[in-house]
Amino acid sequence: MNVGEAENSLPFFCDSFKMFFEERYAGIEEVAVGASRPMGLVVPGGAMPAGYRSATPPLSLAAVRKDAKVRGMGRNGPCPCRSGAKFKRCCEA
Ligand SMILES: [Zn+2]
Repeated sequence: MNVGEAENSLPFFCDSFKMFFEERYAGIEEVAVGASRPMGLVVPGGAMPAGYRSATPPLSLAAVRKDAKVRGMGRNGPCPCRSGAKFKRCCEA
């Protein structure tokens, strides 16, 4: 393939890219959210508007735990990461 030919071939693949991501995006996103926790980041799971997750920088798990401690939040209170889950079932674990 010569220089410039790759750009011209993109429209050929657009429909296949759309089909692939329409079918697989939720699974890919789930893997990415799951991989964030071992990296010490908090990326809320669940459905979100398109672009929201990538536009919102992930919180640090240590910062969320420190915030909960500083605020004196109980284990049954809402998690400071705004996931909507109880702290004990979210970032405390
Ligand atoms: Zn959390």
